[in-house]
Amino acid sequence: MMFLRKTDYEGHIVVPAEIRKALQIKADELLVLSVDPSCQSIFLQKIKPVCCCCGAEQSLLKLPNQKFLCTNCYDSVKQKNC
Ligand SMILES: [Zn+2]
Repeated sequence: MMFLRKTDYEGHIVVPAEIRKALQIKADELLVLSVDPSCQSIFLQKIKPVCCCCGAEQSLLKLPNQKFLCTNCYDSVKQKNC
């Protein structure tokens, strides 16, 4: 897939719906932008969310700092604070 998009006056671009659908990118999802200056390219990568404590990929709660915590670790932390 290849698409042409113009940046707006603040540098924003819209990821085309076809790409979002193909990669199952939902609203408010965190993506990584990286740059390769040698070929004047920007790469956009979808992040696979994992628990910041144990690395689990399931039953995740999104934290305000854009990190994730699984329910098991959440319960463990919650018990230590009580
Ligand atoms: Zn965890």
